[in-house]
Amino acid sequence: MSTQTSIRLLVIGAGPAGYPAAFHAADLGMSVTLVDLDPHMGGVCLQRGCIPSKALLHVARFIEECREFEQLGVRVGTPTIELTRLRDWKQSVIRRLTDGLASLCAARRIEFIQGRAQFVSPDEVEIQTPHGTRRMPVDHVLIATGSRPASLPGWPTSPRIMDSTAALDLPDIPKRLLVVGGGYIGLELGSIYAALGSRVSVVELTDGLLPGVDRTLVTSLQRRLGRRFEHIRLRTRVAAVMPEADSIRVTLEGPDGTQEETFDRVLVSVGRRPNSQQLGLDRAGIEVDARGFIRVDERRRTSHPRVWAAGDVAGEPMLAHKATYEAKIAVEAIAGRKVAYEPRTIPAVVFTDPEIAWAGLTQSEAERASRPVHIVRFPWSASGRALTLERTEGLTQWILEPESQRVLGVGIVGVNAGDLLAEGALAIELGAVADDVAWTIHAHPTLSETLMEAAELASGHATHYLPSPRT
Ligand code: NAD
Repeated sequence: MSTQTSIRLLVIGAGPAGYPAAFHAADLGMSVTLVDLDPHMGGVCLQRGCIPSKALLHVARFIEECREFEQLGVRVGTPTIELTRLRDWKQSVIRRLTDGLASLCAARRIEFIQGRAQFVSPDEVEIQTPHGTRRMPVDHVLIATGSRPASLPGWPTSPRIMDSTAALDLPDIPKRLLVVGGGYIGLELGSIYAALGSRVSVVELTDGLLPGVDRTLVTSLQRRLGRRFEHIRLRTRVAAVMPEADSIRVTLEGPDGTQEETFDRVLVSVGRRPNSQQLGLDRAGIEVDARGFIRVDERRRTSHPRVWAAGDVAGEPMLAHKATYEAKIAVEAIAGRKVAYEPRTIPAVVFTDPEIAWAGLTQSEAERASRPVHIVRFPWSASGRALTLERTEGLTQWILEPESQRVLGVGIVGVNAGDLLAEGALAIELGAVADDVAWTIHAHPTLSETLMEAAELASGHATHYLPSPRT
């Protein structure tokens, strides 16, 4: 049982930073009020992001597998999509989660208010609710207001131009979909629509999909997406957009020159922006940086001594699990504990098929820093489990400190890479060396063996794979 304290905490935003912070604070005995614009908890991640997209990606994978299983001697036929039932199921997943959060919140005696909170002074917050306005003194406040999709300047407004929220509503299955931005969202949502039957084109400004992610990991995804998508156009920008009566005309400029194409819908997925406006931060003396992120110290304290910030609004990477972790650090700090936000690694997963997952140092970061590393790679073509799944395109790699073989980074591309990643993140946090992983018995036959065999390669050879001398 928690001991009651006299600390009162107001949490603004009930997403993956806000609600875990509120729950943790209540567990530590604080008196907690949680405010959100939405009547339900969970934020973008649960209602308009991670959860609905993963539900739909699960369906997408099944549809793709129906096609692929033919070569295994199993003919399922072409699945028929009942869009209304699919939408209802997706909403039911969200509802079960938001209902669960509501009961966990009530059981902890947290006051949940639907409304808009903003600072009126350094000492007072105003909350506008559907039932009127309420003012609260600032004892401690945690800002966890998240982020929103970035839009492209000068673009017209049209129902045919969607952000991730609109795309996840599945308004229809467009015959031709243009995805602008080949990052996390573009590739995940593009994969969903391609599986549902859309002809998907992706345009990406830089010279590769998922900029910043190791090319070794991206290559096999790009190969597979090349078969699923109609076009992947790199170093390409949208020069003009013109909504028409029953389509949208787009001018693309890229290495092949300028071309005009017509689509039924366009998804804009060019990044996200922090929600730091309309909070009255200037009235409370809370500083933001040039990109709009609230400045925080290592305990997530803002320039106001009793105001804290966590999650997307407090800086990159904009990932739910990072938000939850730092929000709990902030609450611990508010409780007076000696803590700091200094994780050795923040894992990242792109939930495409195959998934790409990485943690710790990447090869490109090592190259940029001219840091010598020893990289060992185990191809899934040598994994019995991958063969039974007919998914041998995967790869598992460790990035090691050359002398000590200490694990600095891990990268995986392949089915369920996101679930396999946890072992790598733990190895980094625990300061493990390759031998620690190589000499841990991994169950057979599982994909986790690829982590063990890749680690064996640190000493030159693995049971099922002999790298060429030049590798
Ligand atoms: P992103 O930063 O991952 O990708 C945006 C892409 O758009 C980049 O590749 C960029 O080069 C490109 N781009 C930018 N301007 C462009 C233009 N004018 N034309 C063409 N391409 C352009 O951003 P996102 O995909 O919108 O996702 C936003 C954030 O949400 C991510 O950074 C991530 O933190 C988070 N997210 C995470 C997950 C996950 O964890 N699986 C899933 C979705 C989103």
